[in-house]
Amino acid sequence: MNENYLDRIKELKKEKDVTILAHNYQLPEIQDIADFLGDSLELAKKATKVSSKYILFCGVNFMAESVKILNPDKIVIHPDLDSRCPMADMVDVDSLLALKKDHPDSVVVSYVNTTAKVKAVSDIVCTSANAVDIVKSIDSDKIIFVPDINLGSYIKRFVMDKEIIIWPGFCYTHYQISREDILSLKRDHPNAEIVVHPECRPEVIDIADRVFSTGGMVKYAKLSPAREFIIGTERDMTYRLEKENPNKRFYSISHAICRDMKKITVSKVLRSLETLEPRLELPDNIIKRAKIPLERMMNTKT
Ligand code: 13P
Ligand code: SF4
Repeated sequence: MNENYLDRIKELKKEKDVTILAHNYQLPEIQDIADFLGDSLELAKKATKVSSKYILFCGVNFMAESVKILNPDKIVIHPDLDSRCPMADMVDVDSLLALKKDHPDSVVVSYVNTTAKVKAVSDIVCTSANAVDIVKSIDSDKIIFVPDINLGSYIKRFVMDKEIIIWPGFCYTHYQISREDILSLKRDHPNAEIVVHPECRPEVIDIADRVFSTGGMVKYAKLSPAREFIIGTERDMTYRLEKENPNKRFYSISHAICRDMKKITVSKVLRSLETLEPRLELPDNIIKRAKIPLERMMNTKT
């Protein structure tokens, strides 16, 4: 990236009182300009502690929505409002309410990868970092889990005493990671530990040494005595891992790209810093209602 860009971004952030939050799957050059990088849970928590007037959010729409829901008085800028998570869009309010009607005694657990409207009709939210603990903490033996079939199946491995009805959504980025992709890297790097995201397909989870959220991967890579890792998640995750662990090697799945995360570019960020637009807006009633299951998650001890 051009040095002038970097200086201009720094200047504008200070002049306009903006904090940049970015998800771990963002383009490397976006990761480099972020004030804080994290997974969905870390970003939601961080957003409640930011003191600047504006939060510029680099990630997909549902993440920016969570920031707005938790900080309704802050102005949340999302440099590309079309940067959306297709999996989050696989469940809609009417179909979820119809399912809930068939199972009136169930508790609706929504993965954070859902729209604000779906959160607004949910009982509790979870992220990939706390999904198993959140489901275990629920005082009901019947759960509706939306929208990720793979994360839902992963939870089922650890929660045997509840009926879990899982929505058939999936992440196209993680769906593209095959067991053979991982095994082929393992043949080339036999000493590497296999670390994957719980959105991967069950046959990929089966051969993993560890399963973590993206934030969990960051922590684990630092602590593990291993020197090499095969990282089964979005490709640019390894940019941060390499930067923070220069003495370790990380092997990514080169075709596992979330095109929606990549819609946020440096030039869009620069334009947003100059104009303080586009802003992420949500109706007050949705904010009020969606805040309840999000805060319930934040207040659950996991
Ligand atoms: P994390 O919460 O693990 O960062 O995951 C978010 C996501 O969208 C994974 O595809
Ligand atoms: Fe959604 Fe998958 Fe992209 Fe994550 S990686 S934002 S789940 S499409």
